[in-house]
Amino acid sequence: MIPLIFAPIYSQLELPARHRFPVAKYQQLYNQLVARGAKPAQFVRPVPLDYRRIEDALCPRYVSRFINGEIDREAMRRIGFPWSEQLVERTLTAVAGTILAGVLSLDRGKAINLTGGYHHAFYDYGAGFCIINDLYLSALNLLTKPAINRVLIFDCDVHQGDGTAALAQDHEDIFTVSVHGEKNFPFRKQVSDIDVPLPKGTGDDLYLEKVEQSLRMAVNTFKPDAVIYDAGVDIHCDDDLGHFEVSNEGILARDQLVFEACDRAGLPVSAVIGGGYQRDIQALVNLHELLFQAAKAV
Ligand SMILES: [Zn+2]
Repeated sequence: MIPLIFAPIYSQLELPARHRFPVAKYQQLYNQLVARGAKPAQFVRPVPLDYRRIEDALCPRYVSRFINGEIDREAMRRIGFPWSEQLVERTLTAVAGTILAGVLSLDRGKAINLTGGYHHAFYDYGAGFCIINDLYLSALNLLTKPAINRVLIFDCDVHQGDGTAALAQDHEDIFTVSVHGEKNFPFRKQVSDIDVPLPKGTGDDLYLEKVEQSLRMAVNTFKPDAVIYDAGVDIHCDDDLGHFEVSNEGILARDQLVFEACDRAGLPVSAVIGGGYQRDIQALVNLHELLFQAAKAV
């Protein structure tokens, strides 16, 4: 049974009407997985991360200012959410979920957090709906485990994992791969260990070829002991922010390809659902569900 990490707070965030962020999708995805037969015992509920643990890895001043609501207006505008106590609890719980997925994947082979992928969060600031970089913190946490000396962060969200790349830059034991839209947010890119910028209009064939190639190269050259996978679905043709033309079948094939390659290499994978932006929440949830199908989690 593959552990699925979820807490109701993932969807409990009050946002202004017509806000771009599809906060309802997390609870709806949970409901759909239960309807598909996911067992209650399969779900693990994270508790909010103790912020003192984050302060060691990130800028203590940034973290404490966020927790206490002292981040200035311009920096919050860059994050894209109004500050609230709810936002703090949601952020700390979601980040804890990705860290927990990482730990559980070591024993169980795979684990999936029903949120996560805050790859635009840097050492001392956030951007693009990302406040605290869960992928980076999970990699650091995995590296404290005896059998784990090298962690691969494989980011397939349509937006470049710029924060992750910058945070992991000086860590030889964290390898970052980002397969993303060349002409899309963030417009100032950072340098990952492998970057695969793809043009607007990229469809299934080119996309899958590049994902397969970059994953193979990363596994063969870096020889990781564990993989953190950002399975963003904003690569889909109907996504409002993506500019790719990948189909439902393409997303399923990508997720299967990643899990199968990691299985063959004997690598544990912790996945996060990543980005996905379309107003039709049901259609969006159906896309995120493909990750769980590919993992044979339900
Ligand atoms: Zn994205």
